[in-house]
This record gives sequence, structure tokens and C-alpha cells, in this order.
Amino acid sequence: MFGIPSIGKLLILGLVIAGVYLFFKAAGRREQSRRNGGKKNMGQNTGRTPSQSQENQDDNGSLDMVQCPACKAYIPAKSKCSCGGNG
Ligand SMILES: [Zn+2]
Repeated sequence: MFGIPSIGKLLILGLVIAGVYLFFKAAGRREQSRRNGGKKNMGQNTGRTPSQSQENQDDNGSLDMVQCPACKAYIPAKSKCSCGGNG
């Protein structure tokens, strides 16, 4: 018979829902702590933090801009200016 569910069944249903909710909540916390720990471990394993200082970029072959003496345009140091005045 489909009547009004008894209070006992409702209580059990509520406990089950609460249990599932708490379970996933705890699982989410574990996942977050896991990710944070992974980041820390990665930083410790490499021993280096990627330096973003621009002082060392000359050794990396990055583009170094210089001013063309002829047309005063800023061009890469290792390339010729389109006006021909720098090479
Ligand atoms: Zn030029």
C-alpha cells in the first residue's frame, strides 16, 4: 500500500542522506588536501622555482630589442632592420 511513509522510514532515509552527504564532503576535503600536497611535493622535488627575472633572458636567446641607428625603430638585436641601416 502506498500511504504516508512512517516516521521510522523517514528517519532512516534522512540518516542515509546525511551519511552520503558527509561522505562526499570528507572525500572532497581529502582530494583538496591531496592536490595541495602534490603541488608542495613537486616544488620540493625540482628544488628550483621557475625564475621570471628578465636578467637571465639574454642567455636563453630571447629577443633583445635595440634601436636602429638609422630609422630609430626598435628591432630585435639579432635581426636586420627593414630599412637596411643596421647592417
Ligand atoms: Zn632601421
